[in-house]
Amino acid sequence: MAERRKTKPVYIGDVQVGGDAPVVVQSMTATNTADIEATLRQVDELADLGCEIVRIAVPDKEAAAALPEIVRRTKTPLIADIHFDYRWALAALKANIHGLRLNPGNIRDPEKVGTIVKEAKARETPIRIGVNAGSLPPIDALADDELPPPMHQRMVDAAMWEIGLLQEQDFDLIKISLKAFDVPTMIQAYRDLAPKVPYPFHLGVTEAGTPRAGSVRSAIGIGVMLSEGIGDTIRVSLAADPKEEIPICWDILASLNLRQRGPTMVACPTCGRIEIELIPLANKVEAHFQKLGAPITVAVMGCVVNGPGEAKMADLGIAGGKGRGVIFRKGEIVKTVNEDEFLSALIEEGDKVIAELESGANGASSNGADGSVPDPVIPLQEIPASTTER
Ligand code: SF4
Repeated sequence: MAERRKTKPVYIGDVQVGGDAPVVVQSMTATNTADIEATLRQVDELADLGCEIVRIAVPDKEAAAALPEIVRRTKTPLIADIHFDYRWALAALKANIHGLRLNPGNIRDPEKVGTIVKEAKARETPIRIGVNAGSLPPIDALADDELPPPMHQRMVDAAMWEIGLLQEQDFDLIKISLKAFDVPTMIQAYRDLAPKVPYPFHLGVTEAGTPRAGSVRSAIGIGVMLSEGIGDTIRVSLAADPKEEIPICWDILASLNLRQRGPTMVACPTCGRIEIELIPLANKVEAHFQKLGAPITVAVMGCVVNGPGEAKMADLGIAGGKGRGVIFRKGEIVKTVNEDEFLSALIEEGDKVIAELESGANGASSNGADGSVPDPVIPLQEIPASTTER
């Protein structure tokens, strides 16, 4: 992992984005914003799953009119997503929204942008300059022999144009996103802009697709950036219920040892050596610890090949074999149980790990922020015969 890019932090409500803050998880409601009850319900559902900032579309007068009540009735920091009509940005600011997203591709009048910035500055409300490859400003007329600039360059140019408008008014509560469907384009745009400005970046692959492909595209685009130290907040954009986006965000952060919420599952893919019913067990264990939300790393492994090593490195683990399994807690073997007791034994030992985590004893999860893991080697004599017989 590269050293984190240094950025000037902004606050969306009480959530810090940039500076030394952890990478923040975001999503966006898919409700009709004018339906206040449905929107608030979805904001709460997203927040319960670990979404730390929620964006809300403000496409018309009815949506703008709903904002004062929506802002008043939730503690979750909200960002108003504004396109085309600057009046909805002003209405959102008057409703005490915690942040704005403006698209430089569709509010092009510098005077109107200036009016928004003046009001945002008075209220100290941050603005995200949200560039999207699908809605870029038009290209200036080209000479006959001139090629159009590449997409990533156009995205950076659009961001720099609007950054200039904001800076003209000494406004620096800025956050920037450069989203494209094409992952290499998105990566190149963020890389190019990173050395030019000190502002935090919101990362995302836009319109990433249906859950399977969209999760993969997002994990690659966002993951590459975060591994280069670039990025302060993330959103996974899926053509799905937005609640599906939040666990993916957390899995991306956990995969890079940046943050963890809920279980991180180490589970073997199974093969011809498997001698226990592993897949249902792994799913049940994940569901159980997901409900508890505790940052615990659990290894569910099918045999003695990698089982004891992985189970030993996790907070909690099982290495199965011939209908029996060895349970590990914090690197130590605690018991050997029969297959019908696997789930209950893991839950029982997991409760002890969570109690330790909550009391601050025994440090953080083994898959912690520093990425350190204990020695994976386990002496063979510690493995009961029942797991080594094959
Ligand atoms: S841990 Fe064992 S059962 Fe699981 S994939 Fe590896 S060799 Fe196969």
